[in-house]
Parts: sequence; structure tokens; C-alpha cells
Amino acid sequence: MKKKDLILILVLVLISVAGLAAAGFLQKDEGAAVVVTVDRQEYGRYPLSEDRTIEVSDEAGRNVIVIKNGQVDVTEADCPDKICVDHAIIRYDHETIVCLPHKLVVEIVGGDTSDVDVTTR
Ligand SMILES: [Zn+2]
Repeated sequence: MKKKDLILILVLVLISVAGLAAAGFLQKDEGAAVVVTVDRQEYGRYPLSEDRTIEVSDEAGRNVIVIKNGQVDVTEADCPDKICVDHAIIRYDHETIVCLPHKLVVEIVGGDTSDVDVTTR
């Protein structure tokens, strides 16, 4: 009887640990998104885990945003300052690339944070 109980407890513990690990993994994967905002309006929301190229083109101008290997970069723009193109790639939660002339903001939401920030989330 006692041995049976012990096995049952062990199985239950294993299931809950596996469940927690799976939930944490899925949450992290689903949460990471790239949000593109133009003139304070959400233009689009794309999963960070999927490689794609987004071309944002309107009367203000044109920007090409590339999502690749979980990183985001603005590769082309016709704005005068090219600050968005010169900006380093972004990959972590709340990092942004801003194109002021085009009122364009590319932001990562729900992405990985640095080890320092994990405890505050
Ligand atoms: Zn720009």
C-alpha cells in the first residue's frame, strides 16, 4: 500500500512539473510579437518566431521591416535621416525602432527579457 502511494505521488509530481514547464515554454513562444505602429495606429502584429518581410508604405513614406531568426531590423526606408535603417537590430521585450519622419514604431512585446528583468515580470 505504502509503495503504491509513493508511486502515485511521484507520478503526480512529475505530471505537474512537466505541465508547468510546458506552460512556461508555450507562454514565452506565443507572447513574442512584433507590433508595427504607424501614426499611433496599430498597423500590424506579427509573431517574432516567423521570418517575414513587412513593407509599410503610405503617403508619409516607406519602410521595410525584416523579421529573421527572432530579430527585427529596418532594412530600407526613404526617410531623410535614415535613423531607423541605421538602428541596430532588436530582439528583446520592449525594444523599439522608431522612424520619426514616418511616425513609425516597431516594438517587440512579450519577448525575451535579459536575465536581470525576469524577476520583475
Ligand atoms: Zn526612418
